[in-house]
Amino acid sequence: MTRNYKPELVGVFGCPVAENPTVVMMEAAFRHLGIDWRYLTIEVKPEDLADAVKGMKAFNMRGINLTIPHKIEVMRYLHEIAEDARLIGAVNTVVNDGGRLRGENTDGKGFVRSLKDEFGNVMEGSRVCLLGAGGAARAIAVELALAGAAEATIVNRSRAKGEALVATLNARTKCRARYLSWEGALKIPESAQILVNATSVGLFPNIDAAPNIDYDSIRNGTIVCDVIPNPPRSLFLRRAEARGARTIDGLGMLVNQGVIGFKLWTGLDAPRPAMIKALTKEFNI
Ligand code: NDP
Repeated sequence: MTRNYKPELVGVFGCPVAENPTVVMMEAAFRHLGIDWRYLTIEVKPEDLADAVKGMKAFNMRGINLTIPHKIEVMRYLHEIAEDARLIGAVNTVVNDGGRLRGENTDGKGFVRSLKDEFGNVMEGSRVCLLGAGGAARAIAVELALAGAAEATIVNRSRAKGEALVATLNARTKCRARYLSWEGALKIPESAQILVNATSVGLFPNIDAAPNIDYDSIRNGTIVCDVIPNPPRSLFLRRAEARGARTIDGLGMLVNQGVIGFKLWTGLDAPRPAMIKALTKEFNI
């Protein structure tokens, strides 16, 4: 029997990157399916990104994830960028198709898949209130808009970023967006059917923090989502649940964006339960 000692390689470029947990769920998925793939966590300094992309091609790596600070900069080295990633303005996944590099963004798609799995097609015609206008918020807003959201209220601490996202949505999608400034405890618009925290407030280790909103303004039955993967039951979600909200946590989004990336790279359906199990064990939750 011929032996093959050469695994297929994928991984992540970031700086810092040592605490990125994606390797845990990806390698769990490879083991579960019994395929000889490896996921490498690679620290790449900003000034080394061009060389790192060349290296990735030289090693014939099948793909790469990008995290802070490379998601925007990497776009200049790619042959092709998916339309939604272009609207979002960032790429978190590169697929190496025989030397041709294609950029994708799976963050918002992972979010939408979580929403769909839990509640069905609630995006179509929906009215959304989104807290934040950073990378995760842009990805979520664009994918919700492409999935049929009718109206979006973007709330962000810094006005310029919030207005830039509103401008993208209004110019490039059918979703009608407006900016709402964040002053004091924010009252959630009565019309909101879906409320998303896409800020970094509440992320481990700051688990006692929650976005500054008037929690009593969350109506019973509102779908409330958090992007924070750790802890999954954030203070934001616990407060919303106490007001009768139906909730989605950020761990599901994290796993689903990985599930989508896994399929793009391997062509196989990812073993989602094995990936969730590995991450929950890793986070001790
Ligand atoms: P960015 O730095 O791009 O954006 C951070 C956002 O949080 C900005 O809108 C910022 O507002 C806002 N923010 C930060 N601190 C506060 C505060 N004290 N009060 C109000 N708003 C605040 O980060 P990302 O968008 O990349 O990441 C945001 C979060 O999403 C992180 O916690 C990350 O872990 C999570 N994430 C989860 C994913 C998942 O799969 N579950 C995937 C990607 C990210 P301002 O513009 O005013 O600074």
